[in-house]
Amino acid sequence: MENSINHSNSAFNTAGIGHWQKEGITEETWNDYTWQLKNRITSLNGLEKHLSLTSDERNGVLLSGDKLALSITPHFFNLIDPNDHNCPIRRQVIPSIEEITTNPEEMTDPCGEDSHMPVPGLVHRYPDRVLFLVTDRCASYCRYCTRSRVVSGAGDQEFESNYEAAFEYLQKNTSIRDVLLSGGDPLLFSDAKLEKILKRLRSIDHIEFIRIGTRIPIFLPQRITPDLCSMLKKYHPLWMSVHSNHPREITTEVNEALNRLADAGIPLGNQSVLLKGVNDDVQTMRELVHKLLQCRVRPYYLYQCDLITGSAHLRTSASKGIEIIEGLRGHTTGYAIPQFVIDAPGGGGKVPINPEYIIERDDSKLVIRNYEGKSFIYPEPKSPVMSPLEPSALMHE
Ligand SMILES: *Cc1c(COP(=O)(O)O)cnc(C)c1O
Ligand code: SF4
Repeated sequence: MENSINHSNSAFNTAGIGHWQKEGITEETWNDYTWQLKNRITSLNGLEKHLSLTSDERNGVLLSGDKLALSITPHFFNLIDPNDHNCPIRRQVIPSIEEITTNPEEMTDPCGEDSHMPVPGLVHRYPDRVLFLVTDRCASYCRYCTRSRVVSGAGDQEFESNYEAAFEYLQKNTSIRDVLLSGGDPLLFSDAKLEKILKRLRSIDHIEFIRIGTRIPIFLPQRITPDLCSMLKKYHPLWMSVHSNHPREITTEVNEALNRLADAGIPLGNQSVLLKGVNDDVQTMRELVHKLLQCRVRPYYLYQCDLITGSAHLRTSASKGIEIIEGLRGHTTGYAIPQFVIDAPGGGGKVPINPEYIIERDDSKLVIRNYEGKSFIYPEPKSPVMSPLEPSALMHE
C-alpha cells in the first residue's frame, strides 16, 4: 500500500516495459524483481537483440569479459537512448574497447583496500568504522567499478569474505561504532540472509550505526519490496547510501522505491561518480541533485573517478568537479550539494576537495568571496585567546 502522497511536481521519466511488451511480458512479470534478475542482459547476443552497437562497443563486449562481467537489468537497459551513441546510461554499463587499454597511473586496487583488510572482506581504514564487503555480485555492473578486481567474479582475483572472522573482529574491536555493508550489492541477498547479518551486527553493543551501500534502488527498484522495508526498519538506526549518476536514472519506479525506504524511516544519501560524458557538467548535476531531493535523498559524496584499470575514457579532471560544486553552492539548496572527494590513490582515504572561498588570510582578518564572486572581510577577534598549552608565551610577556 502506497499511502504517502507525492507532492512532487517535477516530472519523473519512466523506464516502463517498452518493447518487452511485444515479447508478451506483462506489467506484473516486469515488476517482479526475480524476473528482472533472470532476464538481465549478459551477452553480446542479448545486447544486439535490443540495440545496435558501435564497433567499439561490440569489441568491448567481446574483449572485456575477463575483467568485469556484462550485466544490465531490463529496467536499467530501458533507460538507454538507442539513437544516442554517447547516451549517459549506455556509457555506464555497456563495455567499450577503451576498457582494455591500461594507463601507467591506473591500478587494479586504486584505493588500496586489500592492504587494509585485517580479515578477508573487512576494510578497516578509519579508527571508528569499517567497510564490510559481503558479496561480489551486483544487479548490473558499472564499467568504472573501483572494485572490478573482485566484483562480478569475472576477473583474476577471487572475492574473499569470511563472515565469522569479520564478526569476531568487530566484536573484539570496541572502537568500531559504524559498519558500512557493501560489496557488490548487499540488497541482492534474500531478506532472510540480509537479516541474519543485520541481527548479528545489532547483537554487538558498541556498533551504533549501520549503513548499506547499494545501487539496487536504481538498477532494480522492484527489489525494494514492502517486505524488505519492514525487515530493514527493525534494525534502526539504519542508513542507506544509493548510487546514481544521471537524472534519467531517477525514474518514477525509482522514486517509488526510494519513497518506500524513506517511509520505513531510512535516511537516504546518494553517492555519484564524476564521469566524462555522463555527468561532468553543472546542468546535469543540478538536475540530478534536485530530483534526489524530491525523492528525499540527500546528495552525500561526488567522487572523482578512481584510477581503476581501463577507466581513462570515463575520467575527467578534478577541476571539473570543483567547477560543478562551485556551480551549485549558493545557486541552489544547500542540502542538494554533495561533498566532492578524491579517494586518495594507494589508500589514504577520502579527501574533501573544495572550491576556494578564502581569497586572503592573516592573523587579523579573512578576505572571503561569495558565490557571486563578491568579496567580503571578516575581522578575526582582536586579542587572540592565549593557548593554555603554551605557558612560554606568558613568560615572555
Ligand atoms: C568510504 C569508506 C568508509 C565510510 O566513510 P564515510 O566518510 O564515513 O562515509 C569507511 N571505510 C572505508 C574503507 C571507506 O572507503
Ligand atoms: S553497483 Fe557498485 S559495486 Fe556494483 S559494479 Fe557498480 S560500482 Fe561496482
